[in-house]
Amino acid sequence: MEPVRKTFVIHNDQDREAAFLEMEQTVHSGISIDASLVPAPENLQCDFDSARPVVWMYPARDFTGYAMVEHDPGGNINHSHNSRGDWAACHACHALIESGDIAGLKARMIAAFGLEDEPLIQEIIFTQLDGFWANRTGLPVRVK
Ligand SMILES: [Zn+2]
Repeated sequence: MEPVRKTFVIHNDQDREAAFLEMEQTVHSGISIDASLVPAPENLQCDFDSARPVVWMYPARDFTGYAMVEHDPGGNINHSHNSRGDWAACHACHALIESGDIAGLKARMIAAFGLEDEPLIQEIIFTQLDGFWANRTGLPVRVK
């Protein structure tokens, strides 16, 4: 069965939580969902550490990043984290990217999200980061 496509426009944390809850309930009911979480325009934030303002956009191809299988009593659930389109960056992340300081960028992301003790989430976001490096298509464009 084709997955249900759904776009969630995220204005705030409540929207984000509601989107995750709906995705969770959908997959656990046996329905595949292809969900996009899109920041509301006034909410554009850095794709690396969620800082504002966004100053740069990095052109990028769509890609599938981290994928995992969750073993649920109702059957296995395949999760994949896809990236669609360009990546937004704040000044600080842009500086780290342009200087090739990947370790510094990762440390910044971990600190920004408080993920020091979250190895699985670190693995997910670092896999997305690898995907970003592999799927960049050009020089960053200044947007602010
Ligand atoms: Zn940033």
